[in-house]
Parts: sequence; C-alpha cells; structure tokens
Amino acid sequence: MTQEIDFKYCPQCAALFLQHAPNLLVCSACDLHYYINPRSTNAVLLQNNKNQILLTKRRFDPYAGKYDLPGGFININESVEESVVRELKEELGVDMNISDIEYLESCFDTYEFKGVNYYTVGLMYRAQIKNDIVIIPADDVVSVLWVDINDIPYEDIAFKGVATFMKSYFSSKA
Ligand SMILES: [Zn+2]
Repeated sequence: MTQEIDFKYCPQCAALFLQHAPNLLVCSACDLHYYINPRSTNAVLLQNNKNQILLTKRRFDPYAGKYDLPGGFININESVEESVVRELKEELGVDMNISDIEYLESCFDTYEFKGVNYYTVGLMYRAQIKNDIVIIPADDVVSVLWVDINDIPYEDIAFKGVATFMKSYFSSKA
C-alpha cells in the first residue's frame, strides 16, 4: 500500500521526489513543491423523528458491503454544502436544500483506493427528514438501513473516523 507521501517521481518532470517534511515532497530536478493535504469529504447524519439514523451499504471498495453514512468526496469548484446536497440526490434520490443541513464537526481518516492510501478530512453534517420519505438507493449505495441510535453497528462501519464521530456525537446526546 503506497501512502501519498511515498510518491517516488515528480509529476512535472519525472525526476526523483525527495521528502523534505512530513507533508512535503520536493523534486530533485525542477524544484516542484508538492504538499500532501487531506482530500475533503462530507457525510450526513440523516435523522427521522423515531430516534433513527440512516446508514448506507457500500457498493464499491474500499469496504464494499460495510455500512457508511451518505456522502462522498467534494468536487473541485464545489462548496461543501453543494456537495452534500448533490450526494443526497445521487445516492438516495432525496431532494434537500442547503438550508436544511447543519454542520456538526470534522474528523480525519484515510481512504484506500487502487493501491494508494489517501489522507482525508470528513466534514460531518446533520439533517432531519420525514419518516415517510422515499429513499431510492443508487450510485455507490446498494441499500439503506434505518437504525436506532442505540443500535448502530459500529463494528460494521466502513471508516474509523466516521464510527468515532458517531460514537462521540451520540454519547454527548445521551
Ligand atoms: Zn520535477
């Protein structure tokens, strides 16, 4: 598994990259400075008024078949709020406005994809939805599960950061 910090060659001139700091690679030939910063992601705690949240089952690796929160990577030239609204539509067929979502906190994680381990930072949101809302799982979501906040299957949650966030968020509400 390659960490992003272990990249060997400069993408500009293909000379050797040298590590200058924990988060900086510098090209030995053209002096390109390549900083390793986290990729931004979002996730949403969708809650109904029965004390339940909605989990998604992942279709693709990493962690295919594990549970996750709706959400995903933020596109370039997109605000985090826009990305939340887009992901809810793509993954669940749910229409929501930016004013319906509330920012909670962030958490850090890693995301392993095709042999590279990327650093990520997740921006966690919350939104209230109606009990009878129609959910249409699509895109990278196989199915959804409404689960009581006291019965969240933490051992089956795909990402450590998301599980840690939910544990801490719901313990502070208890
Ligand atoms: Zn170079």
